[in-house]
Amino acid sequence: MDYIINATNDNKEVSLYVAKTTDMVETMRKYHNPTPVVSAAIGRSMTATSILGLSLKGEKNKITTIIKGTGDIGNITCVSDSTGNVKACATNYYVDIPLRESDGKLDVSTAVGKDGILTVIKDLGLKEPYVGHNKLFNGEIAQDYNAYLLESEQLASSVGLGVLVGEDYTINHAGGFIVSLMPFTSEETIATLEDNIKNIRSVTSMMSEGKTPEDIASIILKGLGCNILSTKEVKYNCDCSRQRMKTALETIGKDELIDIKQKDHRLEICCHFCDKKYLFDETQIDEILQNIC
Ligand code: ZN
Repeated sequence: MDYIINATNDNKEVSLYVAKTTDMVETMRKYHNPTPVVSAAIGRSMTATSILGLSLKGEKNKITTIIKGTGDIGNITCVSDSTGNVKACATNYYVDIPLRESDGKLDVSTAVGKDGILTVIKDLGLKEPYVGHNKLFNGEIAQDYNAYLLESEQLASSVGLGVLVGEDYTINHAGGFIVSLMPFTSEETIATLEDNIKNIRSVTSMMSEGKTPEDIASIILKGLGCNILSTKEVKYNCDCSRQRMKTALETIGKDELIDIKQKDHRLEICCHFCDKKYLFDETQIDEILQNIC
């Protein structure tokens, strides 16, 4: 079971989220069948998006993150809501590049691209959604989110994300944390926290040792007091439906739909997030066409 905990220190100056997301990243992998480096890139972004989704206040709020780098993966799109449930897709799942020479690990930043943009769209139920664009820091995902939080949301944070892919391509461990400072955080707390984070092992190393999100939270907040405020179960969740697909089809245009109807007499569309197929026959295409008029 995947879950995210929210914790704070004794002085309530720090907001810490720690997530275990192994199952949701494995579900994504089963849907999309990506190469390991793509699993790692999408899984890291899913974890960050799930945490950011959970930190949204309103029940109907939604967050979409799009990482558009210059690397071969293309776009990585993740969507979450205030439940922290998430769905994800990418442009290219079959990027096959060698392991990084320096440490033999998956070379996420080359697959994503060191240059590019992280776009965050927050639908907070207002007339217009909030849209933030931020240059990628290095394409490793964690620091890209870190830079976004600092530059676009003026939130001093530290982000750690990790996905450990097994030899059979299944996801052994996935998880991450985002720790943010309140504006009134004391210098002393900042120094302790910085020291703790500097000495921390990677999230997946800690998970491989059997550490839980609660254990990881107490390591990050060592010496500051670790108070868990909430625990929330999260999962991969695609909310596609026939009605949503119909609405999407209404936007592709009358002429194109008529063209498809005449040529193929049917239309099949596939959900990008869960590969579910929706079939529309001629009568059903006519119904959509009537809605456009
Ligand atoms: Zn779907």
